[in-house]
Amino acid sequence: ESLFENLSEIPLDPHYALKELFRADTHPKKVILGSGLYRDDNSEPWVLPTAEEVVKKTQDSGRYEYLPISGLAPFVSAARQVLFGPLGSKEARVVSLQTISGTGANFLGAKFLAETLKPSAVWLSDPSWVNHANIWGLAGVQVRRYPYWDATNKRLDFEHMIQRLETAAAPGDVVLLHACAHNPTGVDPTKDQWTRVADVCEKKGLFPFFDCAYQGFASGDLAEDAWAVRHFLGRDTLEMAVAQSFSKNMGLYGERVGALHLLCRTSMAADKAKGHLSRFQRGQISQPPTTGARLAATILADPELFQEWLLDLGEMSGRIRQMRRALHDELVAMGTPGRWDHVISQIGMFSYTGLTPEQVASIQENSHVYILKSGRISVAGLNTNNVKHVAEAIDAAVR
Ligand code: PLP
Repeated sequence: ESLFENLSEIPLDPHYALKELFRADTHPKKVILGSGLYRDDNSEPWVLPTAEEVVKKTQDSGRYEYLPISGLAPFVSAARQVLFGPLGSKEARVVSLQTISGTGANFLGAKFLAETLKPSAVWLSDPSWVNHANIWGLAGVQVRRYPYWDATNKRLDFEHMIQRLETAAAPGDVVLLHACAHNPTGVDPTKDQWTRVADVCEKKGLFPFFDCAYQGFASGDLAEDAWAVRHFLGRDTLEMAVAQSFSKNMGLYGERVGALHLLCRTSMAADKAKGHLSRFQRGQISQPPTTGARLAATILADPELFQEWLLDLGEMSGRIRQMRRALHDELVAMGTPGRWDHVISQIGMFSYTGLTPEQVASIQENSHVYILKSGRISVAGLNTNNVKHVAEAIDAAVR
């Protein structure tokens, strides 16, 4: 008998389970709207032209050397700049490390805070990116939820969110916030609402942890999408962490390009925290990977390439907005029961459609359209060739 025979069964992550079913389906009209991956109008992955151009520039003989534990310095400082804007006198109070993309940044931050802050809980939005609960569970922190999605009205349940944080969260607890383009709902707080979230964090001594995986994808504007992070930064009393990913906005998914930033109230604390974060990093990965970081650093540092990148971002976010409109218009034109405004008003890659698990199952079976059970669709999976088919599939399922 093996030592591992008595392990519990862990089901395949829903994203991967959906992909396997999709792969096995031979229907010519099959469509998958699962993972948050950008696709072009032919359902193909899209290498950003700017990234393609830069690959040629980063081919020197040192390209595979080990990086420092904290990562490629020009990448880390450019990533920090694009997130926070100019830091001025706060520069010395921020510790930044290159990580294995956003996932690695979330994990490194969770491990570090679990050990140093010892929070009684981490508060996640209900719902949140599925991996958040996994990551914080692995870090040994109790996961609790604050209300986020008002299913009846298909909008943010803001008053209940604030109320829960005010009444149930304890000082020193971590509050996980999506910097923009909330996954899975596509619904973000307004600026006034963000201000109130910052107030609660200040008043109750909660530790904000931003996950910033879609900067540039929500509004198409980098500064606008970083508004919440920059607002919290501007509050001199708050400390916080930010997990940053370049997977989506630079199309570098498999290169694993990201960073963790920790804002401390003093530079002395930041220096100490850097030592602890480096120890975790050393134990987990020793050094982060080179190629994607060099690529991103080159784009971020060169004014011309930076401008080209903004155009690429505009292309992606623009196509997604067009597809929201197209899906909405098809549904309205067919007189599909229910209201569909939220498909347009939601932002980023995802739309929380409000489809029930039963409707999702019938759409899959009858129309070969693969959607997560939660009813979340990746709008980037829609294109001019398949949007009508998807709309008809939804229409048939909700009638
Ligand atoms: N955080 C959120 C909210 C996400 O949606 C994702 C990816 O889907 C990530 C983090 C992590 O992505 P990556 O590890 O590729 O940066």
